[in-house]
Amino acid sequence: MRKVYWSMQNNYIATTRLYQDLLQGVIPWQQLRRVNWMNQRATSKEAYRPTEAEHIANVITHGVWIVPSVLATLELLARSHNGAQFLSALVYGATLIFLFSVSTGFHCVFYRNKHGPWKDVLHRCDRAMIYIFIAGSYFPWLTLQSLPSNCWASSMKWLVWLLAALGIIYQQVFHEKYKMLETICYVFMSTFPFPFITQHDFPGKTELKIGGMVYALGVIFFKMDGSIPCAHAIWHLFVVMAAAVHYFAVLNYLYPELPIPQPSLSITS
Ligand SMILES: [Zn+2]
Repeated sequence: MRKVYWSMQNNYIATTRLYQDLLQGVIPWQQLRRVNWMNQRATSKEAYRPTEAEHIANVITHGVWIVPSVLATLELLARSHNGAQFLSALVYGATLIFLFSVSTGFHCVFYRNKHGPWKDVLHRCDRAMIYIFIAGSYFPWLTLQSLPSNCWASSMKWLVWLLAALGIIYQQVFHEKYKMLETICYVFMSTFPFPFITQHDFPGKTELKIGGMVYALGVIFFKMDGSIPCAHAIWHLFVVMAAAVHYFAVLNYLYPELPIPQPSLSITS
């Protein structure tokens, strides 16, 4: 027990020193080699235990995006010229901010208090936010974009929220029990509405596809804890990249800046 405590303590000190040096712009190769970058893979019945370095990477990779997501939402609100745009900016922006905030909150608590009750509560919230964020990401497209005139496409507006609610109920009941099934639920919910709303061409369709592909690539790392160092932090980075692609598509195509009115030149003689 004493041996385990000292090895944890040494690992903590090595990781802390490493991040201090990295913040000062120094790359300490010796310390990089000493840090424990990955623990053993978890069995199907238990959760993976991240190392100190992985905990810190998990907090940083989502924590630094909270303020930019607030600014991104304010930009959408500033560009809103009607009620539908304002509502979409609020819903989409809120899901973006909450995604990064809840994730950072969970990873902070998990890092400092590995077995406390808040860790479990926030883990459930973190997973629930994935469903809410998927529905929130579709919201501006379903609200501001003209949809194909079939009942499936027009029903998608409320169907994505119904799917999110069902996903959250499933996830709360079977939390951490059937992890692969949970991942399949995320993939199903994010891809199911896509073919119904993309039957016609519209500006931003390519970016929607690219963003979706980046999320899909990220899922590979979501399932690689214990096989690749900092796999969960890499998954976070894929989420950031995909969310950025989708955000700029929303910004450019659904919230275009109105042309600045040119002052009329009057020639007086
Ligand atoms: Zn996470």
